[in-house]
Amino acid sequence: MPRRSTRLDPYVDQYAERTSSMTVSAVRALFAVANRPEVVSLAGGMPNITDLPLGTIGDAFNDLVRSAGVQAMQYGSGQGELFMREKIVEVMAEEQIHANPDDVVVTCGSQQALDLVTRIFIDPGDVILCEAPSYVGALGTFNASQARIHHVAMDEHGLLPDALRTAVLALRAEGARVKFLYTIPNYNNPTGITQTLERRRALLDVAHEVDLLVVEDNPYGLLTFDGDPVPALRAMDDQVIYLGSFSKTFAPGFRIGWVLAPHAVRERLVIAQEAAVLSPPVFSQFAIAAYLDRFDWRGQIVAFRDMYRERRDAMLRGLEDHMPAGTTWTRPTGGFFVWVTLPEGLDSQALLARAVNERVAYVPGSAFYADGFGGRNLRASYCFPTAERIYEGTRRLGRVIAAELEM
Ligand code: PMP
Repeated sequence: MPRRSTRLDPYVDQYAERTSSMTVSAVRALFAVANRPEVVSLAGGMPNITDLPLGTIGDAFNDLVRSAGVQAMQYGSGQGELFMREKIVEVMAEEQIHANPDDVVVTCGSQQALDLVTRIFIDPGDVILCEAPSYVGALGTFNASQARIHHVAMDEHGLLPDALRTAVLALRAEGARVKFLYTIPNYNNPTGITQTLERRRALLDVAHEVDLLVVEDNPYGLLTFDGDPVPALRAMDDQVIYLGSFSKTFAPGFRIGWVLAPHAVRERLVIAQEAAVLSPPVFSQFAIAAYLDRFDWRGQIVAFRDMYRERRDAMLRGLEDHMPAGTTWTRPTGGFFVWVTLPEGLDSQALLARAVNERVAYVPGSAFYADGFGGRNLRASYCFPTAERIYEGTRRLGRVIAAELEM
């Protein structure tokens, strides 16, 4: 092969093939603009943690360093500390998941859980089934492993089980190796949609029928605003691989998430975890355990729910008041996101520059598809700005869409 090295990048011929599928996330480029103070950012997915009791948490961490600093600052177990895994089992019990701490692997956020699961299952060209649309960070991980991403249709009740069956059978008929379904059944990122109980049953039935592994990603499950939560897929079927996280129920900076997996899978995950990071951050595990032991974390989750519910309400009110005819949107019952569908003929990517000029930002829908769909959609998140700012953001967005319609 002729050398293509350039002065800008002399290593250009030496990178692994897989880097060709690692692209700069559209979202990253957007954040620089969206973070300007005059812009109402409905783009980011950052949790709002400003109401955490930082003073008393600080005191607890101080005690931690004095009493257990030597262990907390040492290397730890590749699987994660046993005390942490026991706490994680307690947290999962809130969602009716019954598990053994031995089947849990602690990870650097659920993002790393996605990476580990991908590493142990995916060879280049293997198929991963994802909802249409799906979490942009998962698509990035799957792309980096050279997986072939195949989207399965969903409606307002979640993934369509018949479409799942059809996709698996068709892909296998053409010789594809279909490895797993990746799904976010609660308050889906980016749509805010939650799978109904009937849908979950039907989906698990199809997974059994066609012998398909299910990977459930559930970082928002405890952030329910209205009514009773629907049981997790893992609560209904112990063969489901389950990903959890403290990022939305406590704070993301500790980078602690986990995988709960059937025993044989768990063993491979631990080996992959040791190869990746030796041990997940020990200090973070001590810190999170101290928080869970000493604080009313369930009460804190109730406070988070109340705050996000108010913001969700502000967004839905704002959309109702300001969206031009022909615009539709989802009505989430928990989580962080609303999925907006623009009037026919409009393109959310093309509209973004005008929106930023009008001081409002969102994530274009195409970021959440591996196949270029989503042009008429955008994700509007209500997690970070205040209710007043969110309402104002929808007003600005409404003006932008109306102006575009008049052109
Ligand atoms: N999965 C989903 C669906 C998410 O929305 C996020 C965070 N935005 C993650 C996984 C990763 O979260 P973390 O690594 O902080 O646990």
